[in-house]
Amino acid sequence: MSASAAARARTRVYLTIDTEFSIGGAFEAPAEREPIGAQNVLCDVQGRSEGLGFMLDAFAASDLRATFFVEALQTAWFGDEPMGALARRIAAAGHDVQLHLHPVWTWFDRADWRERLKTETPNDRMHGCSVEQLVERMQRGMAALQRWGIARPVALRTGNLMVDRNVYKAMAEVGLRVASNVARAVFEPAEEALRFNAGVHAIEGIIELPVLTYADLRLGGRTHRKVLTITGSSFAETRALLERAHRAGAPAVVLLTHCHEFVKGDMRGALAANRVNQRRLTALCRYLRDADDRYEVTTMDRVAGATTAATSDALLGVPVHAALWRIAQNKLNDLNVI
Ligand SMILES: [Zn+2]
Repeated sequence: MSASAAARARTRVYLTIDTEFSIGGAFEAPAEREPIGAQNVLCDVQGRSEGLGFMLDAFAASDLRATFFVEALQTAWFGDEPMGALARRIAAAGHDVQLHLHPVWTWFDRADWRERLKTETPNDRMHGCSVEQLVERMQRGMAALQRWGIARPVALRTGNLMVDRNVYKAMAEVGLRVASNVARAVFEPAEEALRFNAGVHAIEGIIELPVLTYADLRLGGRTHRKVLTITGSSFAETRALLERAHRAGAPAVVLLTHCHEFVKGDMRGALAANRVNQRRLTALCRYLRDADDRYEVTTMDRVAGATTAATSDALLGVPVHAALWRIAQNKLNDLNVI
């Protein structure tokens, strides 16, 4: 460890996993298709869990804890299982379970949901809603976690990273104190004050830790922004971003991934491990374990009370060669060449 690195505070790193089931085409073909449950999280390939199972093994091998934002409104279709058992498995492995909400699932509240598709279109919006409506959804999700036997959540990630100020007002009403609702390269909030690239921010009394948005390439004078994910970012890019964040004194880096990023193919049919993405996560875990003088891998349950807003919204970039290599690597992976 260099003297300058030692002198600098460690950068907190949050590995976050949106843990969710899939509508599975049920809205497009309601007579033939139904939602996909546990397989969307487990991603079993010939009896081996290449999704959740792989991730739990990777975290355990480097002794890291992650935050799993577990989607709770799918209970409208599935009831309390199978997600209850998955959430308990995640918690039993020592990880942090927090709340994720996709309101589109409430479409299944009504028995005539198939009929209704003929005249209305389901929507998954968490922005543009009233505080009362948001409070109701949050309470419904929190009640599901309680039934599953999971510790009361303190943190929320909205579905599709859709957010406006009312989300924070509703969070304050139900006692959720930590948010990771912003990822502006995925969803740009209408309100300029919510357009964060990074950092730790206070909004309506809630602590917001945005998923890292970074710049990869400048094309035609325009800066192209990306969100830090396993699929979208090579390990070289992620490592460069972590190093630059630490050098800049950034308080936090939040990475977003999903269990299904570690497989490729059809959840209902031929599925294979996504070895490129699996190698990226394994390399990241080992790097974070070995560089624990610079990074503290931590979880959302530890934010409340321990972290104050330390606004730092610098847009980090990656070396051009790392971005170009990732574009090539992802293309080869899509083509099943590697
Ligand atoms: Zn989601």
